[in-house]
Amino acid sequence: MRDHLSDDALEEYSLDKLSESRSARIEQHLLCCEFCRARLLGIEPVNSVHFTRDGPVYSRITRLATGDMMARHWGSELDGGRVFRSLSAAKRYLSTSCSQMFPEHECDGRCGPTQNRGLMVVPRTRQNPKAQSQKGADSNKQAQAQ
Ligand SMILES: [Zn+2]
Ligand SMILES: [Zn+2]
Repeated sequence: MRDHLSDDALEEYSLDKLSESRSARIEQHLLCCEFCRARLLGIEPVNSVHFTRDGPVYSRITRLATGDMMARHWGSELDGGRVFRSLSAAKRYLSTSCSQMFPEHECDGRCGPTQNRGLMVVPRTRQNPKAQSQKGADSNKQAQAQ
């Protein structure tokens, strides 16, 4: 018998709050457990990537246990997010700030939803040390918004 991931673990994983080793364990479980993969997708109404001049920029909305929506995007030059009460407000935030940051960007065929959250295809963006060091600031922002 196998334990499935807890709701908390899924949420923290979705928000990239977990340590490298814990999130690696969760990824391993997700790779072989369709049930938990579906649950994860269920709390992530938006998961997409845009290939900008600065490299790939990922966007994600996570439905929090509180019912709020955490909208985030991250890439080589940025890492930020905000909490919203509604999905539509979160989506609006992502698209507005994306077009503000990359006004020259025009979507091509590679932009769009990330298949399987990039689990099989593209490694996650954790190898970027700059994004890591900004995590603290990111969670502060989140705390303020709540
Ligand atoms: Zn599972
Ligand atoms: Zn695009």
